[in-house]
Amino acid sequence: MTERVFNFNPGPAMLPVEILEEAQKELLNYKGTGMSVMEISHRSKQFEEIIVGAEALLKELMGIPENYRVLFIGMGATGQFDMIPMNYQVGGKAGNYVITGSFANKAYKEGAKIGEAHVAATTKEINFARVANPDEIKMSDNPAYLHITSNNTIFGTQWKVFPETGDVPLIADMSSDILSKKIDVSKFALIYAGAQKNLGPAGAAVVIIREDMLEKSNQDLPTMLKYDIYAKNNSLYNTPASFTIYMIKLMLEWVKAQGGLEVMEQRNEHKAGLVYDAIDKSSGFYKGHAETSSRSLMNITFRLPNEELDKEFIAEAAKIGLSGLKGHREVGGIRASIYNAMPVAGCEKLVAFMNDFKNKKA
Ligand SMILES: *Cc1c(COP(=O)(O)O)cnc(C)c1O
Repeated sequence: MTERVFNFNPGPAMLPVEILEEAQKELLNYKGTGMSVMEISHRSKQFEEIIVGAEALLKELMGIPENYRVLFIGMGATGQFDMIPMNYQVGGKAGNYVITGSFANKAYKEGAKIGEAHVAATTKEINFARVANPDEIKMSDNPAYLHITSNNTIFGTQWKVFPETGDVPLIADMSSDILSKKIDVSKFALIYAGAQKNLGPAGAAVVIIREDMLEKSNQDLPTMLKYDIYAKNNSLYNTPASFTIYMIKLMLEWVKAQGGLEVMEQRNEHKAGLVYDAIDKSSGFYKGHAETSSRSLMNITFRLPNEELDKEFIAEAAKIGLSGLKGHREVGGIRASIYNAMPVAGCEKLVAFMNDFKNKKA
């Protein structure tokens, strides 16, 4: 068997070995059913335990208040770019968007296709090197919601303080930083995240939604686009991505066993700190893309003095088991995605490599 690498890919991302081994152990015979989770009925008692258990665990870990539901919906996070405006850009209300990166812009573009969408703030003119400041956010008249992207996966920036929106529902795409630190869920009307970054394998988006938003959702939509249908049926109106949801539950159990979000946050700060330190102490050899105040704990973006060196860095790193470090084409350079499952040892090995590489090439 070949050795596992440290996988710095932005998503699908690394999963903890412990949960892969757990899934492997249960693969042929899930809890005495004589079947794998992929083969059991989504209506079985065993699967109901998995999906209800996953909702309860996420609520416990994130401190989600009673008046919220957790839904598992197909079509990834991108599907939410459509479902949100379809459900809430109604009655002449405009979806308000803060554009802090590519995914934020995609969400806005879907909103504009579906109804009225308004750019409340953007940091495009500085190539998304930071998120927006609260005083830059200018909402439209009659806003349906304010949509933000809590962590900008491609540019490597992250909101540290969320905007105050009063009565206007705050909606956040947390695809790349959900479960990475403690947040106050009660500030948000709706939070969503594609699973394949910090929650498990691809195949589902997790949607955390306040009950009044379920009531307010557009009733004229086709069934599979209605949030309340998912809520009423425990996300079992049709066959859900059952294996993905099972893996999400294992991931949540793993996070709990690590000590929960407090421990995750400390560990993530430590990990990111190691890499940012290596950038800051490289005498300009490595240049970070994000402004210091917006630096992401999850995706670290930087470049070397020229593109040739970027390429060489990526190739040399891959040879020693540091995989997936190529930056997104919109930013170039290097991107190290270090979600919850990336161990401290992965960041330490990356930093040692960065220092060696700099000493050889600078
Ligand atoms: C990856 C990502 C998406 C897209 O997720 P899919 O599940 O592939 O649709 C959307 N938003 C953010 C912030 C992401 O990181």
